[in-house]
Amino acid sequence: MPKKSIQDVDVAGKTVLMRVDFNVPLDDQQNVTDDRRIRMALPSIHSVIDRGGRLILMSHLGRPKGDAGDAKYSMKPTAAKLAELLEQPVAFAADTVGADAQAKAAALQDGQVLVLENLRFNAGEKKGAADFAQTLADMADIYCNDAFGTCHRTDASMVAVPKAMTGKPKVVGFLVDKEIQYLSDTISQPERPFVAILGGAKVSDKINVIKNLLGICDKVLIGGAMAYTFSLAQGGRVGKSLVEPDKVELAKELIQLGGDKLVLPVDTHCGDAFSGDCQKQIVPLGNIPDDFEGLDIGPQSADLFASVIRDAKTVVWNGPMGVFEMPPFDLGTKAVAQAIAESGATSIIGGGDSAAAIQQLGFADRVSHVSTGGGASLSMLEGQTFEAVALLDDK
Ligand code: AMP
Repeated sequence: MPKKSIQDVDVAGKTVLMRVDFNVPLDDQQNVTDDRRIRMALPSIHSVIDRGGRLILMSHLGRPKGDAGDAKYSMKPTAAKLAELLEQPVAFAADTVGADAQAKAAALQDGQVLVLENLRFNAGEKKGAADFAQTLADMADIYCNDAFGTCHRTDASMVAVPKAMTGKPKVVGFLVDKEIQYLSDTISQPERPFVAILGGAKVSDKINVIKNLLGICDKVLIGGAMAYTFSLAQGGRVGKSLVEPDKVELAKELIQLGGDKLVLPVDTHCGDAFSGDCQKQIVPLGNIPDDFEGLDIGPQSADLFASVIRDAKTVVWNGPMGVFEMPPFDLGTKAVAQAIAESGATSIIGGGDSAAAIQQLGFADRVSHVSTGGGASLSMLEGQTFEAVALLDDK
């Protein structure tokens, strides 16, 4: 069910409490070194202030466990950066629910913005504490969630705060709206053939993703180091490759469950050391010499995967096909990225390394959606529903 969005509510003269993801990197002088996450929140921010709303922004930054108030995790630099991007003053509260926050929230005028101090400076945030949440909830008339990266969590700002805003509108921002549209709506009603490509280091991180996608996809292509655990399950030789021997039984089950939906590589690009200038060989899957390790899918696998992808109407990709950071072992990942870009399919790139790979390889603007949330996008691909989203108003 689509969720009501920030643009569906009348915000003029109202105070909007918006959960954003301003978890940005800072240098030693407290300068924001990458403002992408702040810039990405601008459409939702503008939607409120350009229509005469009063905006309170709340976020976490880093993991300030036990060191509440540690200046190196302060949100203050994000308020300064936002002021620069908006070309208007942005107020900053030196606390989250204390006297400064209360006073500055009450003083907000139409079109003005306030950034609260780091939510995680208060233990109530991680605990989902009701009293902490109620104080935040009482500051505003409307709740907006635009922090996809934390949507799989149940922190106070994600769950207890909207719960405490009974009778008030609770909506998604543009970022969360788009993530749900692709990672949930498109995947639950895909145009077929629907192909998933999964890679990366470990099977164990993606077991539930593989299981869920085997249930809904027409093909699931497996690359990356996780392919060698599957190869081991088939009795193959994996040399010094990164494998998880304790997941071999599980890999056997997945092979059984997947039948011909599950497609493994047919060859492996391997090397005698974890380095770009090692001795290299291309061998059939399951034939890796003892002193070699698999570092990428081989060229025949790249062609096979590309041909399956080119016929697809919907594609989901999570995890590189090899050690893409270390050429020439980026070739398999490149072939997959290129096939996705050329496929014309609705294409969804999971967060984390595959998002970095598609960016690095220059195909990011030729796919339908690059997810911003690593953990959150994996959880959505597992088929989980998020309480933080479920409790928001339906359209
Ligand atoms: P993940 O976070 O699980 O998506 O894994 C991404 C990481 O897996 C990247 O840093 C890749 O370098 C690594 N990776 C992919 N294939 C291999 C491989 N064959 N051997 C070792 N590491 C790999």
